[in-house]
Amino acid sequence: MFDTLQDRLQSAFKNLRGKGRLSEADIDAVAREIRVALLDADVAVPVVREFIANVKLRAAGAEVSQALNPAQQVIKIVNDELVTILGGETRRIRYAKTGPTVIILAGLQGAGKTTLAGKLGLWLKSQGKSPMLVAADLQRPNAVTQLQVVGQQAGVTVFAPEPGNGKGNPVKVAKAGLKEAQRTLHDVVIVDTAGRLGIDAELMQQAADIRKAVDPDEVLFVIDAMIGQDAVTTAQAFLEGVDFTGVVLTKLDGDARGGAALSVRSITGRPIMFASTGEKLTDFDVFHPDRMAGRILDMGDMMTLIEQAEKVFDEEEANKAAEKLMGGSFTLQDFLGQMEAMAKMGSMSKLMGMLPGMGAMKEQLDNFDEREVDRIKAIILSMTPAERDNPKMIDGSRRARISKGSGTQVKDVNQLVDRFFDARKMMQQMAKGGGMPGMPGMPG
Ligand code: GDP
Repeated sequence: MFDTLQDRLQSAFKNLRGKGRLSEADIDAVAREIRVALLDADVAVPVVREFIANVKLRAAGAEVSQALNPAQQVIKIVNDELVTILGGETRRIRYAKTGPTVIILAGLQGAGKTTLAGKLGLWLKSQGKSPMLVAADLQRPNAVTQLQVVGQQAGVTVFAPEPGNGKGNPVKVAKAGLKEAQRTLHDVVIVDTAGRLGIDAELMQQAADIRKAVDPDEVLFVIDAMIGQDAVTTAQAFLEGVDFTGVVLTKLDGDARGGAALSVRSITGRPIMFASTGEKLTDFDVFHPDRMAGRILDMGDMMTLIEQAEKVFDEEEANKAAEKLMGGSFTLQDFLGQMEAMAKMGSMSKLMGMLPGMGAMKEQLDNFDEREVDRIKAIILSMTPAERDNPKMIDGSRRARISKGSGTQVKDVNQLVDRFFDARKMMQQMAKGGGMPGMPGMPG
């Protein structure tokens, strides 16, 4: 799922790598690529339009961040916007305060309602609930038997008073189901309703009648994520005809372009609550907008890293260090401060290699030894403030004194001093070249 969209977005971001800052032309170019990628994934046009407008606005207004480079900033903006169009917060089922919670499933035939009834039943059981399925799809041949089968697989009671041969009254069945659940102390009732292959007035009326009869806590609109642009018209028709409180996306495991997933929330204003990803009863879970955005970008690790980098990175300190660097007055004291900041990020060293523009540092980061920081710290703390500010004055006898004071060898002190001068040189180059500011050369 979303494979093509994923590739297209990645390549859009790639063009931003190595850029020190974003020009208007850069933003236009990346926005254009994202736009085409979304349209090709069958995301509805109005949704794409708003998405792109927001990305452009935010990219143009983005503060020059010390923690993130331009590519990372754009990735973060796109991620945030994806989370927004997917609904922001995770929306949970609203259970009834008294009596059984009633959930109606509505949607086109083949959307996956009956399968979903079993999945939802199993999931509700795992949440400590005692669900009951009600067979109110009396239209589709075998729908009743199929519900009985999935109910059995899920270990959930099925209420099926009608055989489902096109006759019988689904509204009566739904009402009787609710009564039965009250009598047998089931606390959630899931009503499977009939669908048609296309939108049709009679079907809408029947679902609306069932809705009126059982006064549900949730009406879940079930939609096949593979139906592309049709998703929009179908969703709108159900919104007007039946109205619903939430959406369930099915067949997300398919290789479809998945535009429905990205459009349905914006188009209907209703939250996506669950997602189905296969034919097995366990291929189902609560829908989390942030996780789905992460999957679409395929940058879950990167997002974690971006968040952590923002947290760890002390902008004021970094600015000071950068200024000093440019003036060539970076001292051992600053070096220690930067080293400690790096140690905080050290646990993320593997992830660092994935950051755009960080490839060159990857090898050094892989070799980063956090114990090394303790040794460096001990050595620097054994220096006088004057020595830290002006490492050039650290001659042979001072080195001997420092090694004794820090419990290290003279060669360790030599190494540190050499490394410091190397790092200072490298950082001055990086600062001039507009690379990540504030990163010290790493021990290697
Ligand atoms: P209904 O007409 O809405 O009740 O749809 P069904 O529950 O009968 O599902 C139609 C078909 O889609 C069945 O063959 C299901 O096994 C299949 N199906 C349902 N959900 C999923 C899913 O998430 N992934 C895949 N691959 N197949 C699904």
